[in-house]
Amino acid sequence: MSGKHHNSQIRAPDAAGIAAAVNTLQGGQLVALPTETVYGLAARADCAEAVAAIYRAKGRPDFNPLIVHVGTIEHAATIARLDDRVRGLADAFWPGPLTLVLPLQKEAPISPAVTAGLSTVAIRCPSHPVMRRVLLDSALALAAPSANRSGAVSPTHAAHVAASLGDKVSLILDGGACAAGIESTIVALREGGGWQILRPGPIAVAQIAAILGEDEQEAASAGIEAPGQLASHYSPGKPIRLNAINAASDEFFIGFGPVAGMVNLSTGGDLAEAASRLYACLHRAAAAIEPRIAVAPIPERGIGAAIKDRLRRAAA
Ligand code: AMP
Ligand code: MG
Repeated sequence: MSGKHHNSQIRAPDAAGIAAAVNTLQGGQLVALPTETVYGLAARADCAEAVAAIYRAKGRPDFNPLIVHVGTIEHAATIARLDDRVRGLADAFWPGPLTLVLPLQKEAPISPAVTAGLSTVAIRCPSHPVMRRVLLDSALALAAPSANRSGAVSPTHAAHVAASLGDKVSLILDGGACAAGIESTIVALREGGGWQILRPGPIAVAQIAAILGEDEQEAASAGIEAPGQLASHYSPGKPIRLNAINAASDEFFIGFGPVAGMVNLSTGGDLAEAASRLYACLHRAAAAIEPRIAVAPIPERGIGAAIKDRLRRAAA
């Protein structure tokens, strides 16, 4: 046993760790592993029992569909119908933190529970070297939501996973802290043309619009289509006050830039750094003795929009 990991289920992502993960996944069991966004709880997407185990472990409502992760765009083409817009976006942002909601391919080898019975599928090609290695070595498509109990704060360190799902998953690969730190941007591409952002994330709406060459359209049915976006989410289990300039004595204060706080998302006011540290700060706040949380103002430009989205849901 290495001295670094006190919990035997947490393994380094060396050759032996990767091989164990591939084996476990091929056998239909769950593995938690790092991606560039947050840690994912992965299962092979073609196996109904494996996918059911994800919903069970997270306590996730069965109407909330999962994102399918693949190693290559060729693999994506066996699961979703890809058009030229998809290829343009994939050229620009894959591998990376962009999820596309696309028409499900006929005969796609995907358990119906993955899409919660929808005729569309959410698909992404992640860039984290550990996740990529597991995807390419296993040749599997992996359903992988964030590796936390449903509705709770997402994990950006292996220890967060162990604390939330330690009794539910036998193998956690430790890839250190997640670089982006918040969940992927989700874009729905409509078959007749048009697109919408279903979840803001590390890739900003302007970057998507620049590739697609047209503006986002009003969502016609997003409420029904993406149920996971509507509920209160990312909850640290305490009341949160946003846009706070200072904190009361019973508040754990998360600062940003010159608003110091007890912890600071980014003392230099860098929004990418703030995103990467957001969930670790919320985990700290959840574990603190103060019964309430206050968060400093965060500008909504670029990835700041995604940070504010998460904080609003955490406060809901
Ligand atoms: P998570 O994996 O927990 O970060 O959440 C994945 C998100 O993707 C959920 O909020 C889902 O609602 C959304 N999603 C997954 N599949 C689809 C789909 N086919 N159509 C719309 N949204 C989807
Ligand atoms: Mg999640």
